[in-house]
Amino acid sequence: MDRRPKFKDPELAKALLKKIGMLANDLPEVRIMEVCGTHTMEIGRLGLRQRLPDNIRLLSGPGCPVCVTPGEVIDSAVAYARMPDHVLATFGDMIRVPGSRRSLEQVKANGASIEIVASPLQLIRMAEERPDTTLVFAAVGFETTIPAVARTIEIAAEKKLYNLKMLVAHRLLPPALSALCADEDTQISGFLLPGHVSAIIGEAVYRTIDALTVPSAITGFEALDILGGILSVLEMLTNQTAQVINMYPRVVRADGNPHARDLIHRFFTPVDAAWRGIGIIPQSGLALRDEFKAFDAPVLVTGASDLPKGCACGKVLKGTLTPPDCGLFGRACTPQTPIGPCMVSSEGSCAAYYRYERTEG
Ligand code: SF4
Repeated sequence: MDRRPKFKDPELAKALLKKIGMLANDLPEVRIMEVCGTHTMEIGRLGLRQRLPDNIRLLSGPGCPVCVTPGEVIDSAVAYARMPDHVLATFGDMIRVPGSRRSLEQVKANGASIEIVASPLQLIRMAEERPDTTLVFAAVGFETTIPAVARTIEIAAEKKLYNLKMLVAHRLLPPALSALCADEDTQISGFLLPGHVSAIIGEAVYRTIDALTVPSAITGFEALDILGGILSVLEMLTNQTAQVINMYPRVVRADGNPHARDLIHRFFTPVDAAWRGIGIIPQSGLALRDEFKAFDAPVLVTGASDLPKGCACGKVLKGTLTPPDCGLFGRACTPQTPIGPCMVSSEGSCAAYYRYERTEG
């Protein structure tokens, strides 16, 4: 019996899959990368990989924010959590990610001060209620998360809450797309572009990325959205065109969310930044602007090894290795005993493969 989730509109899904199959017949191997952790999980959950023709390969890129956060940022978060009169605040998915030696979860068990928050705006009240405590927020995430962090700094500045600090490790998607396209190892034929990030940065910005020369579809998160995005990429490959097509217009506008983009710009400036397992990508990170440096919690720990020994997350994040091809996958490395960040995060490729696509071997 087929236990895969049923599509909401099975007839439309069938028609899309039929069209995909017809186009695939006339194409060589096609490597389509999604750069969004939510896409990664949905593709796994819906069993889409197995429903596509053999020559259509879906690859997961660096779309999981926790996975690309460098080990030295995790190590610095650990160091802040262990300082007297400090509290390290973080989103829950950071807590188990390994640094070079320990995770936040491990040091919390030994008494370090760590609190999980659902939104950085919660820190405002915490900072007001605890004026003698320094609250450090591990500010990770892509363009979807950054506006809320910027708004938190704006309120903290208005209220003069200088006991609130940001360990800034945000990352920007467009420079990562450029880096992936420039990397000869990746051999990417097309992209499914992330719906959430695109809702902030807009559709038009992609057309300013010179290196983005492969067919790309801004894609939503329903099964039919994802199939529509794949079909759109295949149509462009068939027609030998390479554009950015917005397949998610119900959410993504040409100019995105100007208010959110303005918030990001007012508080942050782009800087070169490291992506875990990948390396430095020019202008792909953010730093607080000079006038807001009073809210900065700098990286304290540098020089540690970026990934645990034997972990191939760097290759997984670039789509040059699928998780089951890592020698540790499903053996030493499982969601219960994660070794690398891609197995820890709920949006990580290795976790998605383990949960939805593991074959007993
Ligand atoms: Fe790293 Fe584990 Fe994934 Fe291997 S299976 S790449 S060790 S997270």
